[in-house]
Amino acid sequence: MGPFLYRGNNATQEFVQKLDQELIEINNVLAIKRERKVTEEDKKKFAEADTCWICKGKFAIDTEEIERLESKIVSLNEKLEKFNKKSAEYSGIKTTIEKATKAIASEKAKANKVWNHCHITGKFRGSAHRDCNFKLQIEPWKIPIPVVFHNFRSYDSHLVCESVGHSVNAHQIKVIAETFERYKSMKVGQLKYIDSQ
Ligand SMILES: [Zn+2]
Repeated sequence: MGPFLYRGNNATQEFVQKLDQELIEINNVLAIKRERKVTEEDKKKFAEADTCWICKGKFAIDTEEIERLESKIVSLNEKLEKFNKKSAEYSGIKTTIEKATKAIASEKAKANKVWNHCHITGKFRGSAHRDCNFKLQIEPWKIPIPVVFHNFRSYDSHLVCESVGHSVNAHQIKVIAETFERYKSMKVGQLKYIDSQ
């Protein structure tokens, strides 16, 4: 959708409702998963990469770290036996064990190099760890979409606030306020209103 001009009554309501429509369009675009475009140069880059372009870490497993975590789990399991299952200590240790188990899994996954491409253009972005690639995935209907306002903090936020109740997402409003009168940002469902400065 291109620029839209409205002059008339209830302009802020119109604005909020127009944004709801725009959001549907945006999510439709985000939902299209482009096939990866593969060039010879990309293939070469992928094969040669030894670090993840997202976190800059290597595609290698730190075996010492895994051993350290594994022996930590063993000693924590021994410790568990001393505590009552209902005690706070017991659940605390349980949580630490779960975290260590997850850390081992994510360390082991670091050897997996995956092809990271832009789902909108299909272009190769770089080689990445499987987990890093997963974190960057855009989920339509979930990923926050910024709505940038000039002067949102000082005045314009009040205009939007007046009418945001007319949005289909009016039941999901969260405001981050600087003071009672100044709003830093506001989330209405997936839309995140922010100031340009
Ligand atoms: Zn990574």
